[in-house]
Amino acid sequence: MLLRDLGEFGFIGRISALCKIHGSDVIRGIGDDCAIIKISPHENLLITTDIMVERVHFQINLQTARSIGAKALAVNLSDIAACGGTPKQAFVSIAIPEHLDVAWLEDLYRGISELAAEFEVDILGGDTTRSLTDLVINILVTGLTRNDETLFRNGAQQGDVIAISGPLGHSAAGLELLQKQRESSTQIYSPLINAHLQPKPHISVGRILAESGACNAAIDISDGLSSDLGHLCKQSGLGATIFEETLPVAELLRQASRELTTDYLEWILHGGEDYVLLAAIRPQKFREVKLAATEAGADLIEIGQFVSGSEMKLIKKSGIVVDLVPKGWDHFRS
Ligand SMILES: [Mg+2]
Repeated sequence: MLLRDLGEFGFIGRISALCKIHGSDVIRGIGDDCAIIKISPHENLLITTDIMVERVHFQINLQTARSIGAKALAVNLSDIAACGGTPKQAFVSIAIPEHLDVAWLEDLYRGISELAAEFEVDILGGDTTRSLTDLVINILVTGLTRNDETLFRNGAQQGDVIAISGPLGHSAAGLELLQKQRESSTQIYSPLINAHLQPKPHISVGRILAESGACNAAIDISDGLSSDLGHLCKQSGLGATIFEETLPVAELLRQASRELTTDYLEWILHGGEDYVLLAAIRPQKFREVKLAATEAGADLIEIGQFVSGSEMKLIKKSGIVVDLVPKGWDHFRS
């Protein structure tokens, strides 16, 4: 059997069966945004790790070393945000092809270090080795949450508001613009391109959701709304309804959509790497939580509702109801 027949999540399912958990302090292993370990009566340790491979996740000729480094850390911080945590420490491992010069590699670490400083994350170590072909960066990040504030993927309740902490589809549009190498459009579309190259982890929104006591489940959108909402639904045993008219669509996204003749709704529903949070919030408390986010200079946008069953539906602007089928990123199928 080949990996592409199994898919990324089929593969993870098979190896999970081989990863036995012995410690009673482990609250979550494989299957949430972070592993979650109880370290005191009041506190949980969060651990997450992500790997980025040249030509799979990034292209050295399309972006700066600094932005590659920053993004490698940002995607991990986003997983800490999804669990409602405060990031603490990072470990950076890197496999380096011999053609890369030291100044370039220092810039890569500058990118990591600048974002780490912004969130007061300490870089404590890692590993370095030679690579025979591509550059590979693996970062592990730890974080902390109070254990009554930890956010999981599996707690959504029927009737909960589905909210996102920022617009979707910008990163996917930015990637398509970069791949099609439209030099003239780089300036105009820089907000979309930057959304792809320099995502910002939504740590403060994660903390607001965690402290609110009204957030029943959360995940960060790395693979796309349809896939990541699918994880919340599956793990919470619910279905979901999304209202197209509530999905924010920036004018710049419409413009890119016309120019590239790609339907912007495809980017919004299935494009990944926006790294905004997707949350299930008790309906009675939604306005209050949204206000807290707004006061912190962040946002929470209501886009739908969790419902009974297991199906995800999209109510189109026309009123037509269509199935929302997960078709976001899968590493072994895409
Ligand atoms: Mg995640």
